[in-house]
Amino acid sequence: MLEITNLTHTYGTGPTAHHAIDGLDLSVADGELLCIVGPSGAGKSTLLRSIAGLIRPTGGQVRIDGVAVDRTPDNLAVVFQDYSRSLFPWMSVEDNVALPLRRKSMDKAQRKAAAAEALESVGLTGAGKKYPFQLSGGMQQRVAIARALAYRPSLMLMDEPFGSVDAQTREDLEDLVLQVRGHHRMTIVLITHDIDESVYVGDRVVVLSKAPAHVVGDLKVDLPGPRDQISTREHPDFVHLRAEVGRLVRGVERTNV
Ligand code: ADP
Repeated sequence: MLEITNLTHTYGTGPTAHHAIDGLDLSVADGELLCIVGPSGAGKSTLLRSIAGLIRPTGGQVRIDGVAVDRTPDNLAVVFQDYSRSLFPWMSVEDNVALPLRRKSMDKAQRKAAAAEALESVGLTGAGKKYPFQLSGGMQQRVAIARALAYRPSLMLMDEPFGSVDAQTREDLEDLVLQVRGHHRMTIVLITHDIDESVYVGDRVVVLSKAPAHVVGDLKVDLPGPRDQISTREHPDFVHLRAEVGRLVRGVERTNV
C-alpha cells in the first residue's frame, strides 16, 4: 500500500546542511498497523511529513497505492501530537470534525451525520456542540482522531499522538486506535518513542537509527488478540518483543549505527 524507496532528506545546504534521512526503504501492507520508533531527532517526523506530501524529500520516492506522492494525497489523514494546535478553538467540536469533509462531495447534512458517527466511534457522543477548550486533553485528541476517521482515509498517519496526555488516558487512546482500526479498514503508520506502546498497538515495529535515519530493525508483532492492557503486557511474547525493540533502540542510542 505504501512503498518508500531510498528516501533521503537534507535540510539546508552547505556546511550547515542537516541530513535527516538517508536511503530509507520501507513497505507497509494494506491494512497493516505499523509503529515506528527511534531516538528523538532521528527523522521520524521528517519521514511522516514526506509520506504526507507536506515536504518534498531531497531524494528517493514515496508511493501510495502505486502513485508517487508529490502533494498531500486525498486518501490520507494525519493526527499530530499537539491537539491544542490542530483543532480550531473558535469552532465547535462537530465543525472541527466536519471541516475536512468539505473536500468531499457531501452536503451539509451528510457532513454533520458523518461527524456525529465519527464522534460516536471515539466515545464522544453528544459532545459535538462543545468547544475544544471545554474538553480535557485526552478528549481533544479523541476529537482529532474523530476528524481523521470521519474523512475515511485509506492511510492514517499518527505522529506521537499520545505524547501529550497522562498515562491512563494514553492507554485508553491506544485501545481506541485498536478498536477503530477493527471497525474502519485502513492502514495506520504510528510514530512513537514509547517502546511498550509500539509493541502493544503494532502489527509490526520498525526501529530507526539516529539521524540520518535508516531502518535498523523490523519486527513482526504476533500477539494473541484481542489485545488487553493487562494480559497482553504480561504475555511472554510481549515481554520478549519489548526487550528486542528496547535492545535495538539502546543500540542505536549508544553506538551511532
Ligand atoms: P524526530 O521526529 O525523530 O524527533 P525530526 O524529523 O523532527 O526528528 O528531525 C530530524 C532532524 O532534522 C532533527 O535533528 C531536526 O533538528 C532536523 N530538522 C527538522 N526540521 C527541520 C527544518 N525545518 N530545518 C532544519 N532542520 C530540521
